[in-house]
Amino acid sequence: MTANGMSPFEAVNHFFRRAAELEQLSDDAIDVMCGTYREIQAQIAVPRDDGSMLVTNGYRVQHNGARGPYKGGIRYHPDADLDEVRALASLMTWKTALVDIPFGGAKGGVQVDASELSQKELERVTRRYTDQIGLVIGPTRDIPAPDMNTNAQTMSWIVDQYGRKNGHTTQIVTGKPVELGGSWGREEATGRGVIITMDEAVKELGYTDPSEVRVAIQGFGNVGSWAARIAVDHGYRVVAISDVNGGVHRDAGIDIDKAVHHVKETGSVIELPGTEPVDNDDLIELDVEALIPAALGEVITMDNVDRIQADLIIEAANHPVTPLADDTLKDRGCLVVPDILANAGGVIVSYYEWVQNNQEIRWEHADVNHRLEKKLRESYRQCRDFQHDHEDDHLSFREAAFALAVDRVVRVAELRGYL
Ligand code: GLU
Repeated sequence: MTANGMSPFEAVNHFFRRAAELEQLSDDAIDVMCGTYREIQAQIAVPRDDGSMLVTNGYRVQHNGARGPYKGGIRYHPDADLDEVRALASLMTWKTALVDIPFGGAKGGVQVDASELSQKELERVTRRYTDQIGLVIGPTRDIPAPDMNTNAQTMSWIVDQYGRKNGHTTQIVTGKPVELGGSWGREEATGRGVIITMDEAVKELGYTDPSEVRVAIQGFGNVGSWAARIAVDHGYRVVAISDVNGGVHRDAGIDIDKAVHHVKETGSVIELPGTEPVDNDDLIELDVEALIPAALGEVITMDNVDRIQADLIIEAANHPVTPLADDTLKDRGCLVVPDILANAGGVIVSYYEWVQNNQEIRWEHADVNHRLEKKLRESYRQCRDFQHDHEDDHLSFREAAFALAVDRVVRVAELRGYL
């Protein structure tokens, strides 16, 4: 349960139900989509380096496969549980539909604190998990990818482990290292997508110069750090960044290259020379034009929503805003670019990686970036057009995005005879 009394899956389904109402879906269709197609909960038991056993749970949830093979990342996190993985799997269904790539939605999770495991232990966990979900994944069935605390190395172990039983199958996962069939541009794709959608939103809000936009970014992992670098490249003033240890603030703008270097040296953004400390809770409430939550879910709730000063929120993380807080932001006229659009850059380039693997070719980096940019700008405009076409319904941008996505999934489910 969250502070607002809804579990993460209930919260995503709350957004879905509003869209279902608008689309006048039947109760049967609503029942199907508020549940999941298949769920695996598997015991992961592997030896630790000291000879003791690590015993935990791994999950893979397939939410909806009407539009194509199931698709979605795998996260390693101590709080990963079935409900959270269900929520994230359903978000993938709506995300892939919204940006119109031929996939369904899935997600995986292993309940571990990756920072406490050695590389060898992580490798054992990953190989065991791959065996446990091996029967339901496949290059035309379900294609995992990185998510929180997993990366290109994790994907390499999956390719190897899956290949031992099934023969080498590059396209079993996306987000691989380039040397092992990965795509140029995949590593930074989510962060790049976040900034592409911010460009669209900023234009719409009437800013003429990106340097007028002060940006606070919570989280400096793969998504947050790339978003920060690309934001600076696009001329924005990134004034605050943070990680699990805390954050730093400088109103004149933070030198992100220096921050990246500092993280490499010290392991954290904290104590970056020339900046003031700010904790993660205060960062969300800073006096900025744009806020990018790029870490955990449910960081904007009824407890802090009234103190948020930004007029623009770009959801780089999955599900950072609870439904009640979202209503408050809507009433206040704050523009929220929802996760299913803002962070879709990752899965879009995952799709490009899968296409390249299937064709056994590699596209140039600039080509990947160009296609990503075009796809996201188009998706943003389609959402905006949908919102304008339903003017009388007074939809928020998120509500429009969900309705458009639900519409697409239902259409294909009907064509295939599922509904
Ligand atoms: N984990 C990312 C997401 O939440 C990427 C998923 C993928 O590439 O399949 O969208």
